[in-house]
Amino acid sequence: MTTLDQTPRRLLPNMLRGFVLAVCLIFAGVEYWHGLETRAEARTQIQLDASNLARSVGQHAEDSFQLADSTLAGIVESLHDYGTGPRNLALLNAFLRQEAARSTRIHGLFVYDAQGKWIATSLPNVPANMNNSDRAYFIHHREVDDALSWMGPPVRSRTDNTWIITITRRFNDAEGKFGGVVLASIRSDYFADFYRGYDVGKQGAIALINAQGVVCARLPDDNGNVGRDLSKTPLFASMQGKVSGSLTYVSPVDQVRRISGFHHAEHFPLIAVAALSEHEALGAWQRSVRTHALLTLVTIGLFAGLGEWLRRQLLERQVVQDQLEALARTDGLTGLANRRALDEYLADSWPRAVRESTPLGLLLVDIDHFKAFNDTYGHQAGDACLRQVAAAVKRCARRHGDLAARYGGEELALVLPGCDSDALRVLAEAVCRSVRELGVPHAESYTAPVVTISVGAASVWPGRLGADAGPASLVELADLALYDAKAGGRNRAAVRT
Ligand code: GH3
Ligand code: MG
Ligand code: MG
Repeated sequence: MTTLDQTPRRLLPNMLRGFVLAVCLIFAGVEYWHGLETRAEARTQIQLDASNLARSVGQHAEDSFQLADSTLAGIVESLHDYGTGPRNLALLNAFLRQEAARSTRIHGLFVYDAQGKWIATSLPNVPANMNNSDRAYFIHHREVDDALSWMGPPVRSRTDNTWIITITRRFNDAEGKFGGVVLASIRSDYFADFYRGYDVGKQGAIALINAQGVVCARLPDDNGNVGRDLSKTPLFASMQGKVSGSLTYVSPVDQVRRISGFHHAEHFPLIAVAALSEHEALGAWQRSVRTHALLTLVTIGLFAGLGEWLRRQLLERQVVQDQLEALARTDGLTGLANRRALDEYLADSWPRAVRESTPLGLLLVDIDHFKAFNDTYGHQAGDACLRQVAAAVKRCARRHGDLAARYGGEELALVLPGCDSDALRVLAEAVCRSVRELGVPHAESYTAPVVTISVGAASVWPGRLGADAGPASLVELADLALYDAKAGGRNRAAVRT
């Protein structure tokens, strides 16, 4: 059965919800995109900082070794010119002590003879029976007759057991044969101390690595990293082939993820690495993003709340509007559809029946001798009777699409889409019976002692009629049938098709 309730029009509220959702998503998307952009910018800046720092650290190492090497070159020249006689060695010892004391960088200066025996040193005394012929640099210079300096791997000093990096040169005797080796050493700690002057955060690191991948110096050196071989690590592999650059890696030393810059020294086989912890370095960015995200979240929350409030207002208004519209289409006395709604429903049902090739039925119900009922029992009783009859008629309209309406006065109508003449006759008689069975007394009726109705029933196939035909044709036919029923003695149904 069709009711007059309108399906709430939720399009506008839903559109509002969609709009709010879209704006919130756009907001969040823009914030996310902005976060990514600023992160990339922050990373680029960190990479730049790390690269610059590595270059500076590399330059420092280069300067330090160049200084040591030029001292070595001077000693070699002196040995070449004056030999290793006791007089020259005494002078040399004094010179070495003076040079080592003068420079904070140089840890020690040594001269070994062709057998590796210590013959001069910057130490206060030349220890007896010390021999360095087993050291890699000594073996190298004994084998290779050149005037180049050679940088050895970091080793522990035989004088004080600290880590040192050595740079050595060969000197020849007067006959041009291998005369021995001169050596300058720089403590790893000297570099580490120097690196302390840079602020690389709590988890930053600065390191000096030689070309073989061995750590020469590192800050911090919490786990004794000097001497450690990193040549097999991906980090070391990625630093090959380029003079300088930057990398992001997980440190093989302490597993901290770092953004680093590296720089290969120009004249020595050394690589300077300056690394900043990614977590620490991006801290400022993270704080700014967190504040941004919080503000965005609050804005989104407020906007979504406002949107939801507006949506509810809209829904409430529409419910009221729907109720008003339903009221405007309802008959106040009987609660059935009113005339306006009936006309609209008929106007809608007609073309639908044409489209679907179905019949359309209509019952017109008229209470018999109702004027006499009013005269006998009063108008209020008449109203109550009308309501009862309306309810009985409505109960008969059970199928979906059936509509019970008040046609006017004491006349009611039942629109029956899809109802053919056979079903119509059965239904019309059922309606007649159901009113009679109400048993509302009507003493002044000529027809029966109770209230009865006459029913005019009509059913047509709108699709089979001409274009001129319309709902009015059906009403007219039902009206004729009602006239038939009245003329036939009332309390009955007449059908016209
Ligand atoms: P018939 O059997 O030929 O239909 O006779 P009738 O008296 O029912 O027909 P008539 O058209 O002469 O009278 C209809 C009466 O219905 C007149 C009017 O007082 C009464 N009526 C119409 N609407 C209402 C209403 O809303 N309330 C009441 N109480 N009476 C109504
Ligand atoms: Mg009438
Ligand atoms: Mg009547």
